[in-house]
Amino acid sequence: MNLTSPSHVKAWCIENGFHPNRTLGQNFLIDRNILDAIIAGAGVKAGYNVLEIGPGLGVLTEALLACGARVTAVEKDSRLASRLAEALGNPTDLRVLEADALELELDALLAEGFDACVSNLPYSVGTRILINIALHPLAPKSITVLVQTEVAERLAADPGCDARGQAGVWLQLDHDVALVRAVKASCFWPRPEVGSSIVRLDRHPCALTPGERVWFFDLTRYAFMHRRKQLGASLRKAPEPLGRDDAALAALFAAAGIVPTDRAEQLTNAQWQSLARAFARA
Ligand code: SAM
Repeated sequence: MNLTSPSHVKAWCIENGFHPNRTLGQNFLIDRNILDAIIAGAGVKAGYNVLEIGPGLGVLTEALLACGARVTAVEKDSRLASRLAEALGNPTDLRVLEADALELELDALLAEGFDACVSNLPYSVGTRILINIALHPLAPKSITVLVQTEVAERLAADPGCDARGQAGVWLQLDHDVALVRAVKASCFWPRPEVGSSIVRLDRHPCALTPGERVWFFDLTRYAFMHRRKQLGASLRKAPEPLGRDDAALAALFAAAGIVPTDRAEQLTNAQWQSLARAFARA
């Protein structure tokens, strides 16, 4: 079957009584140009060990294998997982795991050392899957995923943008995040209600110690829960161990070069890291 041919994909579904499951985000990629753009954006080379979440009918899996990659594909839907290897001709470089990506033993799986994760993620749980993988200490060096455009913009948002939020700040701690290109809803079947975008994350070293990272996540989680408030006002009322009196907060903000009237979305990642360091030292 030609997996980028809408008529082939629809015919296969009809012949096999397969109704794409909306809850599982089964919107299959049916556009050759976008497939090529994902593969080019991911920069997959022969011999790469690649993790794919949600292979579906295998359009991306097939293209990754054609690059000479070894692919581990994790699919929750048993109807799709059980047919994938055979449908692609039982390639030796393919391993299919029938599993929920949110319940994977990531320590063991990522310890295998993946060069890249390349996936067209399901809408409903895509951000959670991405954060779990990207924030893991053994995360692949690069992650290239198709996600809802609104999510992609949040992940890549710069300080001061309305789209700036907790997920973007967290992912930018360990990665350079770049929007590769927008993808129209017509490139998928069934057609989703929203547009998608390809986003690429490249891992970079993190300057924070493990202890400082805990402060970074606690501070940003709390601050973005109260994103309309100024940081000084919000942290003054925060529960232990974040909450401090005005004098203590003023010293911490000064040490981090932050103005207490700033709001969460205005801070750069470097400023969040300085604040985390200041809290860790205090
Ligand atoms: N890769 C295929 C493509 O590009 O056409 C399918 C992508 S489709 C947007 C998302 C895929 O993720 C579906 O095959 C769906 O069954 C699978 N999926 C949904 N939730 C999942 C989960 N929690 N763990 C693993 N796979 C999941």
